[in-house]
Amino acid sequence: MVTITIQELTKRFSGSVVLSSVDLQIAAGELFFLLGPSGCGKTTLLRHIAGFYKPDAGKIWFDEEEVTRLPAHKRGTGMMFQSYALWPHLNVAQNVAFGLEERGRPRREIEHRVAEILEQVKLDGLGSRKIQQLSGGQQQRVALARALVIRPKCLLLDEPLSNLDAKLRLEMRAEIRHIVKQHGLTAIYVTHDRDEALSMADRMAIMDAGRLVQVGTPEDIYRHPATRMVAEFIGETNFIEGRALRASSREGYFDVETSSGTLRARTDGTWQPASGQPVVLSIRPESLTFGNVLDSPNRFPGQIVDTTYLGATVQYLLQLPGGPLIKVCETNPQEIRLPSEDEVRVMAAMNDVVILRK
Ligand code: ATP
Repeated sequence: MVTITIQELTKRFSGSVVLSSVDLQIAAGELFFLLGPSGCGKTTLLRHIAGFYKPDAGKIWFDEEEVTRLPAHKRGTGMMFQSYALWPHLNVAQNVAFGLEERGRPRREIEHRVAEILEQVKLDGLGSRKIQQLSGGQQQRVALARALVIRPKCLLLDEPLSNLDAKLRLEMRAEIRHIVKQHGLTAIYVTHDRDEALSMADRMAIMDAGRLVQVGTPEDIYRHPATRMVAEFIGETNFIEGRALRASSREGYFDVETSSGTLRARTDGTWQPASGQPVVLSIRPESLTFGNVLDSPNRFPGQIVDTTYLGATVQYLLQLPGGPLIKVCETNPQEIRLPSEDEVRVMAAMNDVVILRK
């Protein structure tokens, strides 16, 4: 287990900045996700931690040891890639044993450790199989076993599930998390799949254009997004434009004037809007409910223009008068509302309406 500290890491490729002064600390034993759109620099950051790239500026520490210039093979990290990178001419056990042989471990120890790890990843009995005779899911487990067998200080995973079908991906999420926790590993996992990150991460960083935009637990980031980009990247949301009026008498809340009336909302806690400042409100579809069931000043009218029945949930498109179309998502509703000219009222808790800079 290792604490990883990254300080002001900057990297340029042919003059363009790919990582811009990245500061981050990942705690020992943490399963940490780097999440962001394609090209935002996730893989580049992971490769710096692995030791495949040297930064133009900045430093990386594993605990108290600075490793910025230490070659990859001396860092004691285990890597798992999207492509698995398995050797087709070696069988399962030989693929897994490779890293131990390279380190000159005695034959008996290698056999013991390979058998032990194959059992943990549920491949016991398949050691002599050829790689081509395995399913995609099994190949993925071989890649995981190969990364773990060297007992790495930390495990680095780059989109490890993206070649699997949807069902297998779901199964493997839980298994990877279980194995990482069982080994007590510090692990860094790169993905652009928000569900993977939300369901597996202890904490995560959202990256955009080479910068860390927000770092926090999945719940923090989903409920308290710091920017518009984060709010929509991490889940579905509605945006309503407005102008901040003043701080409300309820501490931490601010009144915002919108075309649907004055709504009471909060920021992610790191800033306060100035009176008169143009802002945008983010409200998740599932935070909106019909009727008068909450103790909240946030009630506003609209017209249902579309209804989609999805079994567990029903999604409505609501036209706000003089405002945007917004989505409302009801779980297990008793009554399904149909599109109509009649006015309905929706409401949201103050805590579920987030003020973002425009
Ligand atoms: P994806 O999700 O598509 O894998 P990513 O967030 O992992 O994207 P990176 O692979 O880190 O993004 O790439 C970040 C940027 O740096 C991209 O614009 C990419 O084209 C560029 N880049 C990455 N590696 C190199 C390289 N070796 N030489 C030049 N440019 C590179």
